[in-house]
Amino acid sequence: MTERTRSRGSSEVRLAASGARRIVVKIGSGVLTDGGELRPRVLASIARQVAALCDEGREIVLVSSGAIALGARILGWDHPGRSIPEKQAAAAVGQISLADLWRRHLGRHGRTAGQVLVTRTGLEDRERFLNARRTLQMLLGLGAVPVVNENDTVATEEIRFGDNDNLSATVVNLVGADLLVILTDVEGLYERPPVTGEPMPPLVGVVERITAETRAAAGGSASAFGRGGMVTKLEAATSAARGGASTVLCNGYRQNVLRHVAAGDPVGTLILPGNRLGSRKHWLAYTAKPRGRIQLDAGAVRAVCERGRSLLPAGVVRVEGRFGLGDPISCVGPDGLEVARGLAAYSAADIDRIKGQKAQRIEPMLGFSNGDEVVHRDDLVLLEDDGSPRE
Ligand code: GLU
Repeated sequence: MTERTRSRGSSEVRLAASGARRIVVKIGSGVLTDGGELRPRVLASIARQVAALCDEGREIVLVSSGAIALGARILGWDHPGRSIPEKQAAAAVGQISLADLWRRHLGRHGRTAGQVLVTRTGLEDRERFLNARRTLQMLLGLGAVPVVNENDTVATEEIRFGDNDNLSATVVNLVGADLLVILTDVEGLYERPPVTGEPMPPLVGVVERITAETRAAAGGSASAFGRGGMVTKLEAATSAARGGASTVLCNGYRQNVLRHVAAGDPVGTLILPGNRLGSRKHWLAYTAKPRGRIQLDAGAVRAVCERGRSLLPAGVVRVEGRFGLGDPISCVGPDGLEVARGLAAYSAADIDRIKGQKAQRIEPMLGFSNGDEVVHRDDLVLLEDDGSPRE
């Protein structure tokens, strides 16, 4: 992992960060607060650095956690909320302060903050995803700094992003950012999970590609730092990489850390971008939730996965779920394994009627045709066995 890195000049690789124009900066609760208490100096310093980067002509979106922690403190609790409604109440109370803090601190440097609260289910909907994109783009165009958080008050546990690492990766795709900076309370990714009482393992400077070895270095959730842990940070970096963005994992307490990252200095761990999926395919693979599934026969799996073809009705053997035209659906092989995700060109009821049929039969059977394909290849993302989108 590190050998390949050393063969390339550090400044050359760090161009991935220094050349970035649109940057998503994620700040965890652990960086911004200490036992629920705000760290005012950290917030002030990040606001100052963000404003300075904006002055350089970069566009910054902040993904800020801390609502629940701040809210619990304001409510006088010594815990972050013991039930979901308590946490949601804490988020409601804390989010007002959080937004106000960013407003005041960015304002001191002449920058306007715009609060954007999103939910996972909201962004799973393509239309709302595009709406959120337009709003964020408008804010950036106006020179404002969007401050994004999950709308914790309306989301229950199962439908939450849950951690802002994942949310920040979705925001990367929303705004087409070229860099994601995750500010955390450790220096970056270590070669091995650190063990308390033992010397810290060497820091990984650059990851060219996230592999099983990289995930092992993150050490599973047991070595988690902060709420999301190193594992969710790598998940976020993986998703960002497929969106064409690099990620820097670094210590949010370091002086001028954002300025250093943006200058291409070797701070933290830089994870380089991978083969970029188009934005819509990225949304399909990482954000959308399939509304149903269709089972393909072996021939259709080969045609779609090996020959890059569209999915035709002849190859469909079963339809499950209720979905409409344009909804995301999961395509599974005869063994039930998901092989692709795509946007349906027909509703579930219509696919059920035309399954197994030749494309010429669509019009006579349904009385209309949206084309020969049940899912067009341009609307398909092929998946690896582990569910990640194929290169
Ligand atoms: N949205 C949560 C909050 O503002 C934070 C989630 C996280 O820590 O990643 O408190």
